[in-house]
Amino acid sequence: MTDFPHLLAPLDLGFVTLGNRVLMGSMHTGLEERGDWDRVAEFYALRARGGAGLIVTGGMAPNPEGGVFPGAAGLYTPEAIANHRRVTDRVHDAGGRIAMQILHAGRYAYGPDCVAPSPIKWPISPFAPRELDEAGIEKQIADIATAAARAREAGYDGVEVMGSEGYFLNQFLVTHTNRRSDRWGGSYENRMRLPLEVVARVRAAVGADFILIYRLSMIDLVPDGSSFDEVVDLAQRIEQAGATILNTGIGWHEARVPTVATSVPRAGFAWVTRKLMGRVGIPVITSNRINTPETAEALLAEGVADMVSMARPWLADAEFVAKAATGRADQIAPCIACNQACLDHTFSGKVASCLVNPRACFETELRYAPTDRPKRIAVVGAGPAGLSAALVAAERGHHVTLYEQSDRIGGQLTLAARIPGKEEFRGLLAWYRRMLELHRVDLRLSTAPDAAALSGFDETILATGVLPRDPGLPGQDLPHVLGYADVLAGAAPVGPRVAIVGAGGIGFDVAEFLVTGDSPTLHPEEWRAEWGVADPAEHRGGLAPDGPRPAPPLRQVTLMQRKPGAPGKGLGKTTGWIHRAALRMKGVRMLGGVAYRRITREGIEIVEEDSPRLIAADTVVLCAGQEPERRLSAALSAAGLAHHVIGGADVAAELDAKRAIDQGARLAASL
Ligand code: NAP
Ligand code: SF4
Repeated sequence: MTDFPHLLAPLDLGFVTLGNRVLMGSMHTGLEERGDWDRVAEFYALRARGGAGLIVTGGMAPNPEGGVFPGAAGLYTPEAIANHRRVTDRVHDAGGRIAMQILHAGRYAYGPDCVAPSPIKWPISPFAPRELDEAGIEKQIADIATAAARAREAGYDGVEVMGSEGYFLNQFLVTHTNRRSDRWGGSYENRMRLPLEVVARVRAAVGADFILIYRLSMIDLVPDGSSFDEVVDLAQRIEQAGATILNTGIGWHEARVPTVATSVPRAGFAWVTRKLMGRVGIPVITSNRINTPETAEALLAEGVADMVSMARPWLADAEFVAKAATGRADQIAPCIACNQACLDHTFSGKVASCLVNPRACFETELRYAPTDRPKRIAVVGAGPAGLSAALVAAERGHHVTLYEQSDRIGGQLTLAARIPGKEEFRGLLAWYRRMLELHRVDLRLSTAPDAAALSGFDETILATGVLPRDPGLPGQDLPHVLGYADVLAGAAPVGPRVAIVGAGGIGFDVAEFLVTGDSPTLHPEEWRAEWGVADPAEHRGGLAPDGPRPAPPLRQVTLMQRKPGAPGKGLGKTTGWIHRAALRMKGVRMLGGVAYRRITREGIEIVEEDSPRLIAADTVVLCAGQEPERRLSAALSAAGLAHHVIGGADVAAELDAKRAIDQGARLAASL
């Protein structure tokens, strides 16, 4: 008897039966553009072996003008078929099924050749799209249908036509981007014409026995978006035009509502998919912020959807379904929805990977091979770097002793887990605890070994972390001046007016912690009010007419940095705007270009634009960055003991858990 009967139930599509209800959603890996097709094939084959019922590839352009950037991966020449064939062969050999996503970016294409229904620029793109004429539209349809036919030739089991997230087909649907007055614009009947024509022509190109998924924007989250009646109308007509499955798309890229970040409640948009259930005859997939088999199972059991799409969870763990199916759900490495190694990499032109699993997309080069010479390895420090090193070393068969001076594992991850909106870190800590136990790591909590205690090991890894930087401000010894760790640990009371020195990741986290009461992430209704999300059946595009309605801030907070400009520019590429917007909504004052003079009982004296002023505060919190903690390293060196230093103890500047976990894993893989 399985814990996941709905998740593991087959799905009969008539001409083919999927093994279970889990779709591995489309993700851009960045490997295709590098021509590294062996890595692409290995990436997908591992996930097929890991039990994905159906895999959807990253978006493939049907033509050069439709690529997300010039040179983006696609299938627009017959020569490209051979590369794709390598992927499909490997997936099929692994017992899986795979569909290719066809992604035409329209005005989201970041290049001078971009095309769109109307010449309306995406605000953050420097490229105004060319308005397509009748022949131009016909060319786009033909190219998409040809790409689908080539996908079949390349051995794919299906295609997913990307019709959501504000891409090309979505741009025709709404007046926000479609101002045409010909048969492709104006009435909804006309605006629907392109997606319907595309689906019909794709179906004609691939034949009846080929999966055709249509990714439909169910809630646009942009002004003048679709109404839900229009969504239902489109869904029904897409079904008639020949789609096999409808997948859920949530929000356009330009939406000012978070849709996949860690602060979005789990399954926070599944209610939108549910509204479509019973309105169409084909299976419906739900999506967004579903990261555990328990959540997915509950959605299916409640009839929210016929199938569940998870994308990033497959980066975090390539064996997601296989583990769920064999009683090992507690061993699934959780995606914490941080975006740090996946979407942030993609939007920076880097190969995607995963903070939790550095092997993701690096499977062919980073291997955790079983060792034939087990060593005795000491790891000192159970923060992200130490946990990662200990786990990978133990997984490989080494005998690992992990020392931690505090009474719990996690290091800075335990601080992150206390921030409203970062609750997913708790799951990551639970996973580490389970995996240390499973791999029989000898965990010594509340223990700080000295050089003598470490002398008997074959290898010693120091992951001793960081110490808060001392900013050396006059007055910082006053009792109302606190360190960030004390604040987050609740070790000291914090007054109603707070000044925060330092506006890096931790300054932002502390501000969020101090202004937020109950985490809206755990209360979906409040979260929707905070971001202004409404029922699309009541308000077009699902945007509340009165906008965001955040709960009042618990405190009045001022966040400062010495660097000129607005704070928060160094935060995550795809999540920084969310943190900035969240604090702005809570009335946090964010000051750049300040000089600190002194802290007094009244607050902190600063100079801003050459004018001295007092920021009145009952509490001043120091979040001025960190320095490496290397005292033990110095002691070992003095005793002549060789050792490795990783994580914040190695380099504290711009430290994050991604780098720490990656460095720990790579070192442990090499021992
Ligand atoms: P950080 O990002 O390096 O920021 C340190 C802050 O302190 C900066 O605002 C810096 O700005 C200021 N500062 C530096 N030296 C100072 C001094 N001597 N006196 C006064 N202010 C000083 O470090 P962090 O905030 O401690 O975060 C550490 C790491 O954790 C980050 O790199 C980040 O990657 C990670 N983290 C990330 C997130 C996230 O949301 N992704 C959240 C938490 C932590 P000025 O020098 O301009 O004053
Ligand atoms: Fe999930 Fe973060 Fe890994 Fe991306 S980097 S897959 S968001 S855990």
